[in-house]
Amino acid sequence: MSSPCGKLYVVATPIGNLADITFRAVEILKQVDLIAAEDTRHVKMLLQHYGISNKVVSLHQHNEDTVSTGLLEKLRQGQSIALVSDAGTPLLSDPGMPLVRMVKDAGLEVSPVPGACALIAALSAAGLPVTRFSFEGFLPRTSSARQAFFHEKLMCPTTWVFYESSHRILASLKDMAEVLPLDRQIVIARELTKLHETIIKTSLGRALELVESDDNMRKGEFVVIVNGAVVDKKEQVITPEQQKLLAVLLRECSIKTAVAMAVEITGVRKKLLYQAALDMQ
Ligand code: SAM
Repeated sequence: MSSPCGKLYVVATPIGNLADITFRAVEILKQVDLIAAEDTRHVKMLLQHYGISNKVVSLHQHNEDTVSTGLLEKLRQGQSIALVSDAGTPLLSDPGMPLVRMVKDAGLEVSPVPGACALIAALSAAGLPVTRFSFEGFLPRTSSARQAFFHEKLMCPTTWVFYESSHRILASLKDMAEVLPLDRQIVIARELTKLHETIIKTSLGRALELVESDDNMRKGEFVVIVNGAVVDKKEQVITPEQQKLLAVLLRECSIKTAVAMAVEITGVRKKLLYQAALDMQ
């Protein structure tokens, strides 16, 4: 027997090219009782394009806590709801998390309708390792917070990805160049699936030059992908955080114990840490 409660569908919509939507997504947007959308005017363009006339309610970051409660009630009454954002997959740097959590916590069904996502689209065409990666969403807005973030990521051995806007792409790359080596490989994926799609794989230094010198490279929407740190065992370096840790340990224990503990905590080679400890004393 099927549940008397309705289902929440999390539906991916295009990130630029209107054709990038699945047959199933279109069917579900037609069939559900209600569409919850980040921007009702924006989604209506998509619905119009696919001949869908369905009821749309607004659910955005400023009202989602209150609107979600009402939507949960509708699901309990047996209505089905599709959640969409302005572009791509809801919840990925987009609204929807409170609603999905609430529906799951209430024991009702949530079903994904997969499709476009700028993060995955960019990774698929970047030519950087994707076996393991981390998604960092949007970066902090101030330069000092961004630089602190880049310090954290400096030695990260796997690929990392972030979203960036036209207003901040140059400032973000400048901050990155203050912290990361200029020869680090990065990919700038701009305006994916759109007329001016540009995907550039180059060094951080060259990327900064390109974005600085070409106005067009500061227009549109961006995904930035950064290659992980390639750590040659022979050339392994100690990060400022690891040095700080070693210094604290040296204040409390003997050099032998401090180095042994630092090896265990950081995974850095013993010889390197021992030399650093000697240098500090
Ligand atoms: N939920 C969306 C997804 O699945 O990708 C992302 C929404 S987030 C509010 C918007 C950001 O995603 C943009 O600022 C940009 O960083 C990235 N983005 C969205 N569409 C893009 C595109 N066509 N090309 C490059 N980046 C894009």
